[in-house]
Amino acid sequence: MTVGVHPLAGFDKLLHYRVPENLREEIAIGSLVRVPVGRTLKLGVVGEVGAPTDFPLERLKSVAQVLHPFPALPEDLLKLARWMAGYYACGLDSVIETMLPAAVRHGAVVKHEKLLEIARTLTPDELAQLEKRAPQQAKLYRFVAQQFRPSKKSLVLSRLDLSAAVASALVKRGVLREVLQRVERVAYGDDFAHGELVAAQPHALNGEQAAAVAAIDEEIARDRFSVSLLHGVTGSGKTEVYLRAIDTALRTGGGVVFLVPEVALTPQTVARLRSRLEAIAPGHKCVVWHSHLSEGERFDGWLALATGEARIVVGARSAIFAPVQNLRLTVVDEEHEPAYKQDETPRYHGRDVAVMRAKLCGALCLLGSATPSLESFANARAGKYRLLELRQRVDARKLPDIDIVDLRIEAMKQRSLPTLSRQLVDAMHARLERREQTILFINRRGYSSSMLCTKCGHVEECPHCSIALTYHRADETLRCHLCGLQKAAPARCPSCQAPDIRWRGLGTQRVEEAVRRVLPRARIERMDTDAMSKKNRFREVLSLFRAGKIDVLVGTQMIGKGLDFPNVTLVGLIDADISMHLPDFRANERTFQLLVQVAGRAGRGDRAGEVIVQTFTPQAEAIQFSRHADFEGFAEAELKLRKDFRYPPYRHLIHHLFRGPNPEKLKFFAEQWARLVEKELGEKVELRGPSPSPIEKIKDEYRWQLWYFTSSVTKVVPSSRDCAQGSPGRTILRR
Ligand code: ADP
Ligand code: ZN
Repeated sequence: MTVGVHPLAGFDKLLHYRVPENLREEIAIGSLVRVPVGRTLKLGVVGEVGAPTDFPLERLKSVAQVLHPFPALPEDLLKLARWMAGYYACGLDSVIETMLPAAVRHGAVVKHEKLLEIARTLTPDELAQLEKRAPQQAKLYRFVAQQFRPSKKSLVLSRLDLSAAVASALVKRGVLREVLQRVERVAYGDDFAHGELVAAQPHALNGEQAAAVAAIDEEIARDRFSVSLLHGVTGSGKTEVYLRAIDTALRTGGGVVFLVPEVALTPQTVARLRSRLEAIAPGHKCVVWHSHLSEGERFDGWLALATGEARIVVGARSAIFAPVQNLRLTVVDEEHEPAYKQDETPRYHGRDVAVMRAKLCGALCLLGSATPSLESFANARAGKYRLLELRQRVDARKLPDIDIVDLRIEAMKQRSLPTLSRQLVDAMHARLERREQTILFINRRGYSSSMLCTKCGHVEECPHCSIALTYHRADETLRCHLCGLQKAAPARCPSCQAPDIRWRGLGTQRVEEAVRRVLPRARIERMDTDAMSKKNRFREVLSLFRAGKIDVLVGTQMIGKGLDFPNVTLVGLIDADISMHLPDFRANERTFQLLVQVAGRAGRGDRAGEVIVQTFTPQAEAIQFSRHADFEGFAEAELKLRKDFRYPPYRHLIHHLFRGPNPEKLKFFAEQWARLVEKELGEKVELRGPSPSPIEKIKDEYRWQLWYFTSSVTKVVPSSRDCAQGSPGRTILRR
C-alpha cells in the first residue's frame, strides 16, 4: 500500500511513501503523518491512498508515524485547501498549515489533571488525633471531605496554602486518593453575561424576520449549496435570524460555522451566543475559536469538533477551517468587514472561503450585513445569491439621520482648523444636561498624525518605514504605527533646530483633550489600542459606560462595532475624510460602511439618536447617501462607477506585492516580471504598474506593486513562490 503525502516542508509537492503493515488500519485521506524528507522527518497530510506510482515500490520510503487516530483534515477541508492554493496563488503546504492549529500539528496530547478524593473516611477519633499530630493534614482532609465531588489538587493546595507533601502524606496513608481526569481546556466562553447583544430568550420574530427565517429554512431543507444575503439595517435583529438558522441546521443533524469579525468576539457576545446555542441544541457544545486561545484550548476545541462531540463553532475568520462535521450552514456576520481578509500568506478572505466551503459541502452560506460588500450585493442582484431584507429596526425604532457639518465653513467661522464644531459641542452639552451619553469616533490613535516644522517644512518620518511618525502626548513620544518604533518627541526641529513645531492631523488623544476643554465637568474616557493595552481595561471601560459612569467615550473604530448602548443618543464622527482618501478603490465603500455602522450606534434605546459627521467634502456620495442610510442608492452609484472603470465586481483585481531590501533590484525585478506577464498573457490581463506601493518601505523592506485586471483568476495567477525565489525567466505561469 502506498500513499501520496503533502509534506509541510516549505515546498508544494506530493511525495509517495509506503505504509508499513501496522499503520494501515489508521491511515486514510486527510491523516496527519510524519514522513522522511531528506534527512529529517516532516509533518504531512495524506492526499491520496493507494495511488500507483511509477517508482519501484521497494525504493519508496515508509511513513514513520500517524498522528491522530482519525483524519486531521476531513475531505471537504482538503478540497478547500486545494482550491485555496490555486485561487490565492500559494503553496498547498501553507494553506494546510493555516488550517491545522499548531497544537494539532505538534500532535498535542489530551491534558490530564490530578483530583483529590476521599479514599477512606476517618472516624471522629482518628480525625481528632490527626488534628493534634498533623494539623495541616487534618485541614486538607476536612476540606476534601466537605466537597461534593473530587477537587482539583493544585487548586485546593494553593487555596489552603499547603505544600504537595501534605497531600502525599495522606495519599500514602490511604486516606486520600489521586485520580486523573481529562481536562477540558475548550474556551466555551466565560460567564460574563451582561451583554445585551443577544437576548437570553428567543424573541417572537417580527414579520420581516419571520420571512427571512422561512426562506432560510427552505434553503436548508433543499439540502444543496446556496448563498443567502441578509441585508438588514443596523438594529434590525439579524442575530435572531442567524440563531434560528443555526437551530434549523442543527435539527437536521448538521454542523455549523458562525464567523464574526475578531473585534466582535467580546466575552459578552460569546457568552450570550453560547447560552442561546446550547439552549437550542441541548447537550451540544459550542466551541469558540479566535486568536487569543492557548494551544491547549484550541486543541481541545478542535478535538471536540473533529470527533463530533461539538457541532457548532463561533469564531473569527480562521474558524472557517474548524473540522466541523456534516457542515450544513456557514454564517458570516458583518460580511463586508475588511477584517475577514488575512494579510499574510495565504491571503484568503474568510467570507469567500465560507462560500466555497459551503459549496464543497452542499450547504447554505448565510451572509449578513447592514452594508453588504458591493461584491455580495452584485451577486444578489444578478440572482446568484438570494436576497433577504430587514428594512425596519426592531420595535420600529427610527434610524437616526446624519447631520453633516461642513468643516470648510466651520474653519472660516472659527478662523482655525477646528477639532470640534460648534454644533457638535452644543449637542454634547445638551446630552450632559439630560444625562445621556455621547460616543465620538476618530479613526486614528495617538495625538496627531505628524510633526511639521513650520520653518523648514521638515516632517519627522520613521527611519524604517516611509510614513510620518505619530505624536503621542501622554508620554511625549513619536511612534511609528507600522513597526512600533518609539522615541522621545523633540522640542526643536531635528533638521533645522527651530522651535516652531506644529502638530498636524487629529488623533484620539487630541480629540479627548479638546473635549476636556469644552466640557470640563464631563466624565471622559478614551478607547483605543493604546489606552486598552492593559488586560481587561476594555471590558472595564465598557461596563463603566454601560452603567452610565462615563459621559463621553472617545475612540477608534474599536468601539464602532456591534455595541449596543441604549443611553447613547449622540454619535459624532470627527473626521469622515480619513477613510475617504485612502489609496484604495474601495475607499468610498469603506467610508459609507463606516458612517452607517457608526450611526447605527445611536438611538438604540427608546430615545431618538442624533449623528453628527464632520467633513471637508460634504458633497461626496459616500457621505450624502449615508445621511439616510440609503444603501441601495449608494450601491447603485458606486457600482456604476466600478462598471465604468471595470473594477471589481466587474473584473477580478489581483494585487501583486514585491518586497525586498534593495530598491534598485526590486524595481528591476518587478519590471522584468511585468514584461513577462505582458508578453505571455497580454490579451488576458490588463496591467497597472509596476509602481512603488503607497507606503514604499515598511520595516526596512521596500515595496513595489503590480495590479492585474482579469476576468478569470486561475488563468493568470503565477505561483507566488516562484515569484519570490526565481527570476522571471524560470517562472512557469499557470494557464
Ligand atoms: P443587528 O445585528 O441587525 O444590528 P441585533 O441582532 O443586534 O441587530 O438586534 C438588535 C436588538 O433587537 C437586540 O437587542 C435584540 O435582542 C433585539 N431584537 C431582535 N429581534 C427582536 C424581536 N423580534 N423583537 C424584539 N427585539 C428584538
Ligand atoms: Zn516604522
